[in-house]
Amino acid sequence: MLPNIFHMLIFRNCSIKQYNTFGIDVKASVLIEYEHDEEIIRFIVSHQDKCRQVKHLILGEGSNLLFRDDFYGLIIHPVGKKLDLVNEDENYIYIKASAGYIWDDFVEDTLNSKAFGLENLSLIPGTVGASAVQNIGAYGSEAKDFIFELEYLDLDSHEIKILKNSECKFAYRTSIFKNDLKNKALILNVTFKLLKFPNINCDYADIQKYFNNKTNITAKDIREAVINIRNIKLPDPKKFGNAGSFFKNPIINQEKFEILREKHEDLRFYSLADGNYKLAAGWMIDKLGLKTFTHKGAAVHENQALVLINKTGKATGKDICELAEIIKEKVYQNFEIELEPEVIYI
Ligand SMILES: Cc1cc2nc3c(=O)[nH]c(=O)nc-3n(C[C@H](O)[C@H](O)[C@H](O)COP(=O)(O)OP(=O)(O)OC[C@H]3O[C@@H](n4cnc5c(N)ncnc54)[C@H](O)[C@@H]3O)c2cc1C
Repeated sequence: MLPNIFHMLIFRNCSIKQYNTFGIDVKASVLIEYEHDEEIIRFIVSHQDKCRQVKHLILGEGSNLLFRDDFYGLIIHPVGKKLDLVNEDENYIYIKASAGYIWDDFVEDTLNSKAFGLENLSLIPGTVGASAVQNIGAYGSEAKDFIFELEYLDLDSHEIKILKNSECKFAYRTSIFKNDLKNKALILNVTFKLLKFPNINCDYADIQKYFNNKTNITAKDIREAVINIRNIKLPDPKKFGNAGSFFKNPIINQEKFEILREKHEDLRFYSLADGNYKLAAGWMIDKLGLKTFTHKGAAVHENQALVLINKTGKATGKDICELAEIIKEKVYQNFEIELEPEVIYI
């Protein structure tokens, strides 16, 4: 008898509280969890009429999503954990990982294989597939700096397509998958071009402070530093449901920057190479005295004003949305800056 290599589970009318890091207790009509691409492709093709009729959502770890209501449709949830060394040359190692691979496990596994580059992105929740959708970033690195290409299933034509890095339209926390290919692509795997020789990046102030002039820093030291810093700064979603930074850091031009700088001498910003300025949204929220501000079951985190939390564990998606609206309104009134959510509303 052939072994059953497939792992595909179909849940109907199920709670997805465990499938989103805000811990919002809503239901999905159908949730399919799968490990092997062949199985989900076969399912989608054989149910194509039905799949075209119903709303669908691809769900990684749900660490950047805010469910405002029950999801009447099909949720597709990859959990495959496959890693392949696909190529190498003098300086680079090309590693392909399946979309459902947990991002931080992937970072750890690459470093253990002496493939460097992802260390600054340690401990970001989520999956490999979503890292490309979101172009995740932290501590001076972004996923786009290391993604070589990816493979996705075109949900209209059912063809498997390859996109090179330059075709993914990566920008700050976005990609083609949030625009032209929104709801049209199921990313199957992502190939990363990693370094054989580490290029240590400890420019970020928190990392510099952590090492306090230490020399001979290794990529694993950076990973350890980032993990320690993140554990101190960010709330653990298991304790207080959250989705990391709720808002994007707004980018403004020189003219607007100068007006704001005149009004707020202590304005927190980063100068960008293109002459624009990125403002620290968390600083603005903090400046308005909103740390710990609570609305129904939701609140602004006490240490990190950019993070909204499910304080009571019973907040609804709507409570969190309302809190976000209150913050947006106050920031606009005071800074004339329109905050844009980084979190995706469902
Ligand atoms: C405590 C905490 C800290 C965080 N810190 C950071 C940080 O430092 N930097 C950062 O960038 N983000 C951060 N985030 C946000 C989050 O971790 C990332 O956005 C992450 O990439 C989301 O991954 P996910 O698998 O949970 O995706 P989900 O939230 O499930 O989905 C995100 C989007 O990707 C799509 N998607 C997911 N998988 C696929 C696929 N296989 N094919 C096609 N589309 C897909 C979804 O449909 C959705 O549109 C943080 C979140 C938390 C909770």
